[in-house]
Parts: sequence; structure tokens; C-alpha cells
Amino acid sequence: MPASSERGARLARMFVGGACALLAAAAVAAEAVSVKPVRVSEHVWYVQGQSGVADAANQGFNSNAGFVVTPEGVVVIDALGTPALGRALIAAIRTVSDQPIRRVIVTHYHADHFYGLSAFRQAGAEVWAHKAAREYLASGEAQARLEQRRRELAPWVDERTPLLTPDRWLEGNTSFALGGLHFDLLYVGPAHAPDDLAVMVREDAVLLSGDIVFSGRVPFVGNADSRRWLAAMDELLRLKPKVLIPGHGAASRDPVADLAFTRDYLRHLRAAMGRAAEDMVPFEEAYRQTDWRRFENMPAFDAANRVNAYGTYLLMERESLRKK
Ligand SMILES: [Zn+2]
Repeated sequence: MPASSERGARLARMFVGGACALLAAAAVAAEAVSVKPVRVSEHVWYVQGQSGVADAANQGFNSNAGFVVTPEGVVVIDALGTPALGRALIAAIRTVSDQPIRRVIVTHYHADHFYGLSAFRQAGAEVWAHKAAREYLASGEAQARLEQRRRELAPWVDERTPLLTPDRWLEGNTSFALGGLHFDLLYVGPAHAPDDLAVMVREDAVLLSGDIVFSGRVPFVGNADSRRWLAAMDELLRLKPKVLIPGHGAASRDPVADLAFTRDYLRHLRAAMGRAAEDMVPFEEAYRQTDWRRFENMPAFDAANRVNAYGTYLLMERESLRKK
């Protein structure tokens, strides 16, 4: 083989090798943010985020979003955790419907559920949320969270990512109809967050619970009101949904069983931290003495459990003071 063509062949092999490596890298990146719609009923689909907390590896895709296709337009529940994921969700919706996207309901203003809103506003959708989110949006906490996300989710969250306010603030429970379907927006906060909304799609008996239910991972509790959170779960079970789409984790056709993990975890936190607060055992000691074995192998345990326990310890102190 002449030298030039040998060089050509070597170059071609290098090119193929390089292209394969590039394709493999692209496949990994695409896999990390594969926003694929899963149908759960006649009108309802959802996309499932990865387990664990939002990080660079999952590009912030750690929460779920749902959408309901009616003959008069699409209703979306939650917008995912970055503007790019918001666009990916719109692309996922477009694989099953070309109906206009009319409305986005935000189940609660936590970063992983609403940073994707800008894509929906650009697409002409109106945004609804409960008015209890107002205080959070105006707070330093919302800004601090945005800065944390800019650091940890760059370049998917950056200085252009807005904290978008809704077009309409809701009060209490709200119902509306679109394209022959009825939507019940139930205010169940303050539980996981001050502004928790759950969405029931009546005709399909599908319930989108927001973060009242975490499936397959330790929930983020922080300084949530776990007493009301447990009550909210009972309230949602009374609706007898056929399908439950949690804020995190897989959809369930057995909501009672799949809700049990979140409920057991909250009960365990409250019992252990409640005893410690009652007996005035310092937090560090109470945390060390608590048996976490049932939960410590679940995703997000390391990132969330200690903060959850501390928030619950403070809550149980307040609850025990109220009793006295
Ligand atoms: Zn949340």
C-alpha cells in the first residue's frame, strides 16, 4: 500500500475511533436527560426523573412532570428543574400531541419542579400556582437556592435562569374543565411545601401528587410540616386514584402500597425525633442513637436524611412546647 493511502487508512481508522468515542459520549449525555413520555391512562402521560438529588450527572432531571392531552389543548403539571429540561418536556409532549399547551400547574415552588417554566411561557402557556408560594419567591431562600443551582447545575442553570412568577395565583381548591376533562387542584399545604397542590384528573382517576409522595427514594423533608404532610396523604388516598404519579419515582397503580414508604419514613422521623425533643436529648446524640437501617440504602439518604432529621427535631420541639 502506498504511504499516502496507508496514512489515509490510519486517519480513517482514527476518525472512526474518534467518532465512536464522540457518539458514545453523546449517548451518555442523551441518556442522562432522556425525557421520555410514559402513558398511564387515556389522557395522561408523565416523564420520570432519575432517583437521587439534582446534580451535574443527571443535569437536574431528578423530578417528574405530567401532562394531560385533551381535544382543546394540553395541561402540564410541573415544568422540571432547568430551562433545557422544560424544552425537553415540550419536545416530549410534541411526540404525542400537536395540541397547544394551554396551562402549567406548579405543584410547589421547589427548584426541581419550576425552573423549566420559562420554556412554557415562551410556548404561550399560562402558569398557575398556589398563592402560598409568594412568600418563598420573595425570600432570600429562593435566591440562595438559585445560586446553589447555578453552581451545581451549570451550564443548565445560569445567570439567565429566571424565578418565574405565575400568571394566576390560586386560593384554596380550584377546579376547571378543558376539552371535556375535569381537573381538581387540591390545596394540601403547608405539608411538604407551603404551597403544595395535588392534581386529580377526574375522568381518568389519575392523581398527580407533587412531592406529597416520593417513590423509591428518601423524601426531602427539610423544615416541612410532617404532621400536616401525613394528613395530606390520607386526604389524597380518600380520592381513590387508580394511578398515582408521585413528584419523584415511578407511577403507581397501587397508591396505598406505594405511598407507604413516604409515610413510614415520616412516621419514623417524627417518632425518633419526637422522643428526643420530649426528653431533651441533644440532636447529635439523638441522630446517632436512631436506627436508620430501614432507609439508609435508599437513594438520597446521604444527601437528605440528616437535614430531614434536624428539621423534624426542631418541629417536634415546637410541637411539644405547644402541648405543654
Ligand atoms: Zn419538593
